[in-house]
Amino acid sequence: MKVCKFGGSSVADDVQVAKICDIIAADPARRIVVVSAPGKRNKQDTKVTDLLIACAAQCLEQKDAQELLDAIIERYAVIYRGLGLDKNPETQGVLDEIRADLTGRVARAGQIDAARFMDAMKAAGEDNSARIVAAALRARGMRAVYKHPGQAGLLMSDDFGNAQVLPKSYERLAALASEAEHDIIVFPGFFGVTEAGDIATFPRGGSDITGSILAAAIKAKVYENFTDVDAVYPVDPRLVPEVAAGNGIPEMTYREMRELSYAGFGVFQDEAIIPAVRAAIPINIRNTNHPEAPGTMIVHRRRARQGSVVGIASSAGFCTLYIDKYMMNREIGFGRKLLQILEDEGISYEHMPSGIDNVSVIFREDGFTNEVEGRVRDHIMRDLQPDNLQIERGTALIMIVGEGLYYTPGMAAHATLALFREGISIDMMNQGSSEISMMFGVQSAHRENAVRALYHAFFKD
Ligand code: ASP
Repeated sequence: MKVCKFGGSSVADDVQVAKICDIIAADPARRIVVVSAPGKRNKQDTKVTDLLIACAAQCLEQKDAQELLDAIIERYAVIYRGLGLDKNPETQGVLDEIRADLTGRVARAGQIDAARFMDAMKAAGEDNSARIVAAALRARGMRAVYKHPGQAGLLMSDDFGNAQVLPKSYERLAALASEAEHDIIVFPGFFGVTEAGDIATFPRGGSDITGSILAAAIKAKVYENFTDVDAVYPVDPRLVPEVAAGNGIPEMTYREMRELSYAGFGVFQDEAIIPAVRAAIPINIRNTNHPEAPGTMIVHRRRARQGSVVGIASSAGFCTLYIDKYMMNREIGFGRKLLQILEDEGISYEHMPSGIDNVSVIFREDGFTNEVEGRVRDHIMRDLQPDNLQIERGTALIMIVGEGLYYTPGMAAHATLALFREGISIDMMNQGSSEISMMFGVQSAHRENAVRALYHAFFKD
């Protein structure tokens, strides 16, 4: 049995929903279908989830939200009419159901607290997507049912907007496998219910998490994640457009995927990989608009050619804090105290390369205001008395990732030579803490050139 998840662009309108019905019909193993809320149909368009958030905010401010509500209903109406669901006695009622559902949610403004209300509104996007996709499958004569996550037992913590699945959910959700033998189950992504029965959502992009949880719970053969790209590319196609022409990564390991997502490879929701990894379910990233393409398979283990690089990821927007102190290596607790100062400010760090008398900490720049910086400087000077403290903004990180990289001589030389030839100076380098990646810190202004140079060095030369 396969679990398939379709992202927002795959349910954006009637043409896209027709494609996903074709995809489901083409493989009898596709029995559990997870859907996102309708996404953007074009660059100017707004995702239904964003419309819902705006609508909820209006309601919370006690402003008239009718226009937004109508715009949301219209997104489903386009699918409903476009697929002729209004003409089919089997599916005629579904738009009324969706309208009633949305109107009912809006009416709860003021009756429940703001966090619960916001999550109930956000969840409406995927919930109604699932209703309409189930109807579209039925209209084609397939046996398909909509399933509410609460009814299926997807239990969540009550961190509204940032909830986590409760471990006992897996056992309950496992029962879906036998149901899916006779009916295709259409399951909304992105939310579940708390033990008290409130709707709670995962972080944004969380429908991927739902798919991964269901795949793990029913021990699926594969978790197919349909999106709008043919594969995961070895490098961001916006930086190297030529990679989009059929040079996707055929297979990569979970570890490689994680290292790549870590530095800004936005194909798959970060947290989503965890349930599938724990249950060793392969993840197949595929394209709804090009279903014959095999996509990228993300697996537990693979045979990697020595020294082969699977991808290069990069991300700007980091800060580097450098500290020098003579005899730092003898001072027990120095690292802990430094990290405590950052922790007290709610700063989570990404890397921490160190030398005998110095240490750098790299963390994300957003949220690190001048005010926070001032406090961090004061605390470090007072508690750690360094010889030198420097904080630099505008660092970009570049990750070169591949299983077996670590054991192959000459990889770092190859990378540094490529950067040297472009005249890019390396502010920092980290190899060894991860066996499968090499990290370089460069100034943000050099990020794009650096990625291009490294792509050419590892994939072309
Ligand atoms: N619709 C939600 C979002 O836009 C979740 C998802 O699409 O995965 O974040």
